[in-house]
Amino acid sequence: MTIASSHSEARPSPVFTPPPPSAEKQYYERSTPLTLSLIELNPQDVVEGLMTEKGFVAAEVTPVGPMREACPHCSGVALQLVLRHRHVKRSHLFCRVCTRCYDAVTENGHSVLML
Ligand SMILES: [Zn+2]
Repeated sequence: MTIASSHSEARPSPVFTPPPPSAEKQYYERSTPLTLSLIELNPQDVVEGLMTEKGFVAAEVTPVGPMREACPHCSGVALQLVLRHRHVKRSHLFCRVCTRCYDAVTENGHSVLML
């Protein structure tokens, strides 16, 4: 009884196979928008005005335009960007609906509106 250890398997002719594309770099698209936190501001701190018995009457300000950020108190209402000019002490975000004023800060706590 002999142990048949035959290596008679027909080896296929070597076929060149390209290496797998393991070196393919993954590029993660930075589509995530800048994370901003909204901080409510005291209107008296951002706009010149008078405190009356009926409330704070601010000088007329002209928003530049709607922002991507929505008012936390009014869902779906885009905040208006108000830039610092005559009666505006500092740039801020303004909600036309609830007349709240906001500052937008980054994750690091830096205001994106204060230059
Ligand atoms: Zn609002």
